[in-house]
Amino acid sequence: MMKKHFTFLYLLGSLTAVAQTNGGQIEQPLGFEEYDPVSTLKVSEHKLTRSKYPFIDIHNHQYSMSSQDLSKLVADMDALNMGVMVNLSGRGWSQQWAEGTTTIKGMLDNVKKNYPKRFMVFTNPELKGVGSPGYGERAAKQVEEDVKAGAVGMKVYKSLGFSGIKDTDGKRVAVSDPRLDPIWAKCGELGIPVIIHTADPKSFWDPLDRYNERWLELKTHAGRKRGSNDPVPFDSLMKEQHAVFARHPKTKFINAHMGWYPNDLRKLDSLMTRFPNMYVEIGAVIAELGRQPRAAKQFFVKWQDKILFGKDSWVPSEYATYFRVLETEDEYFPYHKKYHAFWRMYGMGLPDEVLKKVYYKNAIKLIPAIDKSQFPE
Ligand SMILES: [Zn+2]
Repeated sequence: MMKKHFTFLYLLGSLTAVAQTNGGQIEQPLGFEEYDPVSTLKVSEHKLTRSKYPFIDIHNHQYSMSSQDLSKLVADMDALNMGVMVNLSGRGWSQQWAEGTTTIKGMLDNVKKNYPKRFMVFTNPELKGVGSPGYGERAAKQVEEDVKAGAVGMKVYKSLGFSGIKDTDGKRVAVSDPRLDPIWAKCGELGIPVIIHTADPKSFWDPLDRYNERWLELKTHAGRKRGSNDPVPFDSLMKEQHAVFARHPKTKFINAHMGWYPNDLRKLDSLMTRFPNMYVEIGAVIAELGRQPRAAKQFFVKWQDKILFGKDSWVPSEYATYFRVLETEDEYFPYHKKYHAFWRMYGMGLPDEVLKKVYYKNAIKLIPAIDKSQFPE
């Protein structure tokens, strides 16, 4: 594998040499970041700006939903054929209990007044004060109150498990910290799904060298690079998360970003088998699926009742890649960010029944508050 990679870089070097001798123009050596070949491949193309069926985006963030004019958002959603947007940032950025409560109530009010069928709001657990007396009960009660007010699920940010969340002694709170158990149990009791994002792609822990697939991302977003044990290795964070799934079989968890195993579907398959209460969501990992369309299709067919559509960052034009990978059998088409994927995409060509489940049926099952009449049978 090392040798192959070396050959690739060597080839880039030779291309520059050819350009210099043939064109007579002197170019700087052509680096990875500049290399941007125009594909000469002629194959049929099916560029999609709308999904085949209306869909539910289970992973979206709108921080100013309590005050924003939602009609602009709805127009953008309509253009994509997005039936329902699930805003996971119910409590906003706030780390303060009272402020977060005001935020989520404002969001729920705005939605209820204007577009009650088009938006769902998830709450977030209060992670400040872990270790203080009565913390677990208090945090669980807050979830209960938010659900009473209209929240239909809970989102856990990746800060849990990283150094951002500390207990009252200043120690990192592990994802599997038993002091959080009352929160997970409460969600199970209330019957609301918990969408949880833990860790980052494993490459962020790996050495930043020519063998790292996320080299460009780590170069352009230096803050994402981690030491091999910062704050613990990738595998340890994953194990912490899985321990929560195992301890709370009655709570339904949606593992965001396919649990960061979209590039190892055999591993993910073993996790799906092990945890019947685990679902996955495909936000930010479509490039992993689009480079292995056959394995990904098999996985989607096998787990068609457990996979949900999500996107995470709200950039409407980027949804096109998702639709094209999921729906078409197009070959060798570009992804929208070189730093996620310097490789090309291939469509999985999912059957209609699977598409419908991924686009909306599975989400409706997990969130019964969604008005079904907006979606086909
Ligand atoms: Zn997110």
